[in-house]
Amino acid sequence: MEKIVLPASLEDKVILVAGAAGFVPSTLCEFYLNLGAKVIGLDNFITGSQSNIDILSKYKKFEFIKNNIYEKLPDFKSTKIDYIFSMASPASPIDFGLIPLEIMRVNSEGTLHLLELAREKNARFLEASTSEVYGDPEIHPQTEDYVGHVNPIGPRSCYDESKRFAEAMTMSFHTRYKVDTRIVRIFNTYGPRMRPNDGRVIPNFITQALNGEDLTVYGDGLQTRSYCYSTDLVEAIHNVMFCNDVTPFNCGNPDEYTIKETAELIIKILGSQSKIKYLPLPKDDPRRRRPNIDKLQNISAYKPQVLFEAGIRQTAEYFKSLI
Ligand code: UDP
Repeated sequence: MEKIVLPASLEDKVILVAGAAGFVPSTLCEFYLNLGAKVIGLDNFITGSQSNIDILSKYKKFEFIKNNIYEKLPDFKSTKIDYIFSMASPASPIDFGLIPLEIMRVNSEGTLHLLELAREKNARFLEASTSEVYGDPEIHPQTEDYVGHVNPIGPRSCYDESKRFAEAMTMSFHTRYKVDTRIVRIFNTYGPRMRPNDGRVIPNFITQALNGEDLTVYGDGLQTRSYCYSTDLVEAIHNVMFCNDVTPFNCGNPDEYTIKETAELIIKILGSQSKIKYLPLPKDDPRRRRPNIDKLQNISAYKPQVLFEAGIRQTAEYFKSLI
């Protein structure tokens, strides 16, 4: 049964999206612009792309402010804000090694600033958390009540632990100040607007297949991931924002593949001559990952629409358009 309550119209609503130059947030901004909302995007471009802002700038009701949310938010004193999406964190494992402190600061001080703003504006707030809060999971598929298996000092801990902190702070603002909060735990997502050199598995494999290079499978390639196409993910996040449950929701697509299968499929879909080469597995790489999305499907009619093959083709077309 649908438990989503949408306002009659979003025409008079103002939505603030932190991290708007990222590929998922940019897709989300466009979704709400198409529904008639005013959208204000923030980004400091540490990993976001100017091209993702350029796409949005053709909409009259989009406003962009370059801002580092963990330092100080822009002056919103005379701005009405109805909804805040906290989506500003870099999320690729490559970033974890390069900018760990920036990641920890955006998810702690940055999230704090956004929660304070939500409190001041009486706005609804959504934290874009991650499947990484489950760490290397001991239960499979992962349900929201699983509390996780995270190494607090490992190479991924800057992200995992700061997102766990962001969830805790979100719940604390809800219990202490009655801020109207939501939490989504985003599983592996891919699609156009991703950076081809982002370092994550899908952009790496597509770029390598398009260039006729060997696809770099880490470890034995038997670890699994479940990939969600970006527009499907935005639909899932939207459903959570407009339901009335403050507890976390897994958002993703439960179709699960081994990494080796992922490589073989991408070679086949793109008709590439590339081969596979095996490289060492990074430390603390989660062995399995697949969302249980029953909770999301209990509040909405959500069903991922984009099949892997179509999603890979569209992402490859996007990468080709950048050359
Ligand atoms: N991976 C791989 N080759 C690559 C990039 C990633 O085999 O070129 C593997 C990585 O070891 C992990 C999975 O693919 O097991 C997903 O990695 P990704 O960086 O996309 O994100 P994660 O899900 O680990 O956060």
